[in-house]
Amino acid sequence: MAAYDSDRFSRQTRFAPLGSEGQAKIAAARVAIVGCGALGSASALALARAGVGFLRLIDRDVPELSNLPRQVLFDEADVAAGLPKAVAAAAHLARIDTTLTVEPVCADLTADNASTLLRGVDLVVDGTDNFEARFLINEVCCREEMPWVHGGAIGAEGRVLAIRPGVTACLRCLVPDPPPPGTLPTCDTAGIIGPAALVVGAVQAAEALKMLVGATDRSSGRLLVCDLWDNIWRTVDLSLLAATGCPTCRDGDYPWLEGRTAARPTVLCGRDAVQVSSAGGAVDLARLAERLATVGHVVANPWMVKADVEAGIQLSVFADGRAIVAGTREESRARAIVARYVGA
Ligand SMILES: [Zn+2]
Repeated sequence: MAAYDSDRFSRQTRFAPLGSEGQAKIAAARVAIVGCGALGSASALALARAGVGFLRLIDRDVPELSNLPRQVLFDEADVAAGLPKAVAAAAHLARIDTTLTVEPVCADLTADNASTLLRGVDLVVDGTDNFEARFLINEVCCREEMPWVHGGAIGAEGRVLAIRPGVTACLRCLVPDPPPPGTLPTCDTAGIIGPAALVVGAVQAAEALKMLVGATDRSSGRLLVCDLWDNIWRTVDLSLLAATGCPTCRDGDYPWLEGRTAARPTVLCGRDAVQVSSAGGAVDLARLAERLATVGHVVANPWMVKADVEAGIQLSVFADGRAIVAGTREESRARAIVARYVGA
């Protein structure tokens, strides 16, 4: 059994359903959190403080001021420092518990890398904001028979579903035909209040703890739906969906992993920004930083270069060649800016 500080976690082990045996399982657990925004921040904080031994934080973005009302792992200093969210989040979590192993990964979860990024963990937590990433998680987890916890928040509403492939309904059972990008309300159009994200992240963390200690009878595969403004809390029984299954969890059909789905949206949720994936591959960040310094203010670190390239436009380029253009929602303009300053 994994070792842990029995004094530090005494209030948790005193909770009978966990006990010392449960705490040892938590200490030995390896969890991947995809997305370190509002939900990922909240669930990562809760799981790190609960004593989970290993956390892999996967995120594609950088923190900005409009994130701070709900993304509890970041502060103004992180925005000023211009570090990627995964790196800034890992630094915060390491200060909470020096024995925690945190692995920051600055990447966008894609069909090409999802299997690799979600390898070697016991459970995945969904902190994403888009259907593509969620369906990629769903397909990897169904294929590997790995539990994961889906979560979503918008406005004052939240939803959580703990998924155990082969036992509970999966995401595709629940959403057989995901709507095309742009047709659903997002944080941009409907807004969001911080407490909704905190609640969802906290419930996701609780569901994760239950599955990690094997209390699966308590994680029944019911969908939680809540509305904090109207104070409505209900759960929806999905056992009929689970009994039928879907092409993914029943037949092993993985359209998102195999690239048989529509092209991904590039306008990022929650901000005026467009992601441009690189055709050219890895970028020499040091040389790029030198070049951009002649254009405007530059912040550079080993993971990325961020520069004020035009009025109201901020360009962030990551080592893998990915770029985020903030200050526009027009994909064509974002691509032109990347071509102009990165040359990709
Ligand atoms: Zn299914």
